[in-house]
Amino acid sequence: MASAGSHLSWPPIQGIISDLDGVVYRGHAAIADAIGAFARWQTAGLRFCFVTNNSTHTPEDVVRKLEGHGLAIAPEQVVTSAVTAAELIRAKYPELRRVYVIGAPSLVKALVGAGLEVTERTPEAVVMGLDREITHEKMRIAVDAILNGAAFIGTNPDLLLPTASGFEPGAGAAIAAIAAATQVRPLIAGKPEPHMIETALSRLGTARDSTILIGDQIQTDIQAGKRAGLPSVLVTTGVPAREDPSLKPPDFIVSSLGEIDVTATLSGPSRQRRV
Ligand SMILES: [Mg+2]
Repeated sequence: MASAGSHLSWPPIQGIISDLDGVVYRGHAAIADAIGAFARWQTAGLRFCFVTNNSTHTPEDVVRKLEGHGLAIAPEQVVTSAVTAAELIRAKYPELRRVYVIGAPSLVKALVGAGLEVTERTPEAVVMGLDREITHEKMRIAVDAILNGAAFIGTNPDLLLPTASGFEPGAGAAIAAIAAATQVRPLIAGKPEPHMIETALSRLGTARDSTILIGDQIQTDIQAGKRAGLPSVLVTTGVPAREDPSLKPPDFIVSSLGEIDVTATLSGPSRQRRV
């Protein structure tokens, strides 16, 4: 496992796919180094796209939040697990029309935006994301639909989410309950699955080996990056790493995004800087 960003030999970087929470901001607080790095990369003409397992915000919500931190981007530069779930249904089940949703309004918006009808009447798929108003009745409808043959799609597998005072159950906890009840394994849209990274990559249009993945969690971000075949960078500004030998390690570890060296791309390989 590599470490100490300034001593690394970075590949020529044309594109960047980055996580948000724990990388660019922590809750409501911006991570200044990261905002500064993205602002410089934007000026330098590097293409970047953000990927987030959070299905409770729309891309437009993220744009507004980053604008508040001083970084102006377009909604197309944000891929959420809700957007990915909608794209996944379109790609995998092109005939499917009716979906039942347990999740936030942003998830409903993404699915409706993909031409799907959100209904509890004979749904052909159940899509689950984080729903802070989940009820037993919603779970009953989901279980019934899945047992009747509806496809089962989950936005993201995160079990625990940090809060100001501790933790709350993530989407993955409720998805696991429905999976246990039905004995059906869900198709997961978010990280560590690679679908979200593939969506981001197709939006960037950059080559796989010159597009880096940046994240703060080995078990989600880095695994998704590795599965998609991208050089993957762990930044140690977010969730502390858990030792797990079954997980693929990152290719690079940095303590600040300022350590990522993009000069090889910007000035050509002959002038690659080695510190
Ligand atoms: Mg994160």
